[in-house]
Amino acid sequence: MPTPILVLNCGSSSVKYQMIDIDNEEVLASGMVEKIGLTDGNITHTTGGHKETIDETIADHTAALALVTRAFHTWGPPLEDVVAVGHRAVHGGERFRETTLINDDVIDGLTELSGLAPLHNPPGIAGIKAAQQALPNVPHVAIFDTAFFSTLPPEAYTYAIDREVAEKYHIRKYGFHGTSHSYVSKASAEFLGKNVEDVNQIICHMGNGASISAVRGGVAIETSMGLTPLAGLVMGTRSGDIDPGIFSYLQRVAGMDAQQVDNLLNKQSGMAGLADGASDFRDLWAKIDAGDANAAQAMDVYIHRLISYIGAYMAVLGRVDMIVFTAGVGENDNMTRARICDRLAGFGVKLDPAKNTPRNKDATEISAPDSSIAVLVVPTNEELAMARETYRVMN
Ligand code: ADP
Repeated sequence: MPTPILVLNCGSSSVKYQMIDIDNEEVLASGMVEKIGLTDGNITHTTGGHKETIDETIADHTAALALVTRAFHTWGPPLEDVVAVGHRAVHGGERFRETTLINDDVIDGLTELSGLAPLHNPPGIAGIKAAQQALPNVPHVAIFDTAFFSTLPPEAYTYAIDREVAEKYHIRKYGFHGTSHSYVSKASAEFLGKNVEDVNQIICHMGNGASISAVRGGVAIETSMGLTPLAGLVMGTRSGDIDPGIFSYLQRVAGMDAQQVDNLLNKQSGMAGLADGASDFRDLWAKIDAGDANAAQAMDVYIHRLISYIGAYMAVLGRVDMIVFTAGVGENDNMTRARICDRLAGFGVKLDPAKNTPRNKDATEISAPDSSIAVLVVPTNEELAMARETYRVMN
């Protein structure tokens, strides 16, 4: 008899889900509802090696969850067996520092935080309410993207701005992708046969969104994202760090309003902004191979920013035992990994080219035996981490 946990990740126009048997951590079903709010919505549901699809208009998150329920009823496994639901919550603010059992007060708290995460928290809340209706008799749990970074020390999370303003508006570094950084930190220590308490790690989560963290003994002490997920590394379409003065400069000189600057920095920047719309690293390398100078420079900027952060986190940690690459780019893109490690050669970091192969589905150590720091590729698994967290909290 399996112990299925349903994990849900609700975005503004999509719902991703997995049903995981927590006893053996097997994925029993997975799927995605896309284009919520549009006329050409659809759901894909995969179970037992079969992928099924329904196309239909999906008005809102309630309709999306009704469709998920229908998919389970039609193709299985039975949704009635689910023992708990884990929800991805992007912004926990100052209040939610760990995985939390959801009740009305928690929903109110999440609603209050919508100002800090206007793109992410409202669809998350809509998803929670719809899932509670669909599965009213099981515990629902919120897993926060920010929680792993609630351990940052004040000198790391404090912005040097007027204290009163910062306190009134809750302006501080929160950090994101915490579920991934936490999972990968534990998994990489385990892979090397070490206790996470005994190692200092730099975790590079390089997906479409990207962030890096410094983790000492399993505890996060620095990370690159801030009040919002816009700060830090160069990303697919997000700028990462810029001079904050650029914001008012664009308003003054280019006549942009706050929304336009926000759009520019979130959607038309990063690799896409520098490389004529290319944000996917496969496309970027193809362009570079074809002699595209903008794409080549975008890659240089990406690498420069990343190694600047690695250098900073070496200083913050004092000693680094492992550098770990994860997420879409980190797991798949051996060329980008090689470029990064080449730049760290002065610190004694050395890759084994035979191990640095394109796709690493399993955790792999890609450094040479005489590298000063172990370099690893460890695939992230946020859904499994969420299922584990859900199970831990429901017990
Ligand atoms: P997110 O979850 O932030 O949407 P992912 O972690 O799935 O992102 O990463 C997606 C990115 O990974 C793509 O935009 C692409 O740049 C990169 N990627 C995926 N597969 C490959 C590959 N085979 N080679 C290089 N980059 C890849």
